[in-house]
Formats: sequence, C-alpha cells, structure tokens
Amino acid sequence: MIKLDRPQKPIELTHEVQVSLTNKFKEDGNSVWSKEYIKKSLIEMSSNKCAFCETLLGEESKYLEVEHFHHKDKYKDEVVDWDNLLPSCRRCNGKKGTHDTKLEPIINPCTSEPKNHLKLLMNYRFKHKDDIGNLSIILLNLNDQDRLVKKRFEIGNALLDKLLEYIELTDDVVSGVQTSTKRKSKIKNGMEAILRNGLKDKEYSATYSTVLIQSEEFNELKKKMILTDLWTLEHTDLESQIKNLTLC
Ligand SMILES: [Zn+2]
Repeated sequence: MIKLDRPQKPIELTHEVQVSLTNKFKEDGNSVWSKEYIKKSLIEMSSNKCAFCETLLGEESKYLEVEHFHHKDKYKDEVVDWDNLLPSCRRCNGKKGTHDTKLEPIINPCTSEPKNHLKLLMNYRFKHKDDIGNLSIILLNLNDQDRLVKKRFEIGNALLDKLLEYIELTDDVVSGVQTSTKRKSKIKNGMEAILRNGLKDKEYSATYSTVLIQSEEFNELKKKMILTDLWTLEHTDLESQIKNLTLC
C-alpha cells in the first residue's frame, strides 16, 4: 500500500448530479457509482492499481471495483461522494465487506500515509505499527499467502537476482577487466531501469521499493557505481522517489 493523491473530482460529478444519484440510490439501491467517468478518474489516481493491495486491475478476475471507504449501506449520503470512493480489486473489496470504517478505522491510502501504520518484514509479511495497521492487515488479509505474500517473495527474489547480476558487471569495471563505454552504459541504464521498476505507478511498488532500499545488494552496487563514476544525478533522483514509497 502506498499513499495516493486524490485529484479533483470528475467534472461530470457536479453537486446536482451527486444529489440526484444519491436520491436514486436511496430510492431503489441502484449502482449509481458505476459510471465510466468515476472509474476513469479512480484508475488514473492509482495508476490502475488496487488502492489497498497494489495489484494491477483489468486482468482476469481483477476488474476494478468502486470501493466505498465508508460503507454505502450505512452511509448512504456518501454513495457518490468523491472523497469516499477508492479503486479496489474484487478480493480487497470483498474482504472489507460491510465493515464500518468510522467505528473501527483502517488505513485510507488517500488520507493517511500507509508507512505510518505498516512495515514490510524480511519474510515478505506486513507487520502493523499501530492498531489501524493491525486491523487493516486482518480485515483485508494483507498477508494472504497465495495471493500476496508469495507474489511479494517472487518480486523481491527477482529483484535481488537482478542486483547481483549488475554487481558482477560492475566488478569488472572496478577491477579494470572490462571498462568499455558499452559496458558502462549498460550498467547505468540497468540501474535506471531497476529504480524505475519501483516507482509509484508500478504494481506492488511498496514491496519492490522496500526490498530494494533495504537490501545489502543495492547498497553494495550503489557504492561500486559511485566509485567508478557510474552513479548519476538521475539515479539519485529516482532513489529519492523510491524512498518515499518504502514501508520500513
Ligand atoms: Zn486489492
């Protein structure tokens, strides 16, 4: 989970439209939130990811569901309140169910910083930092072995392999065995790609960024790249963006 910045509400959702849709929902329970302009704005906000588990939406069985942070059955006036809507996968939306977030709050990634409530352990499980984090993990089953923990492990493992590969390439430059421009460019571009893969528009960016920044491999590679003048300002800029996403 990462912090999301909510954009302005869709222009189509004027005050009048909101009142009319809310009244319709109260009358007959119609799915008034199921509008293309609402879905489009939610998808843009989260870069097409579930706001809670960061899975990419749009693939089989992972279609976007419009999630009401405060449940629509109890808080009917918020059924199309822009600030109450989140993009969610079916799994997270289903787990959250009719839970009352006003009585028992969980993390709302639009209004609070997930890293204040959660951290990622070396075993790829989330651990809470406070009661809100704890309830979020339990309610949304954020340590679901098959759907989430296994996926995090695969991402982390592939990333560490990639870092080791680039450490080897850089060792050749350090020792003077291979110092061609081609090799140096390969390392610089490779590091840029490694960092870009963890930016906030990428799937599971909280996991990826945390594994990257906390790994000995990344820090060793960075040190060797600085030593051989391969570390650039672009790398520094990307690294600082990644650091903002980590769950440490
Ligand atoms: Zn989800």
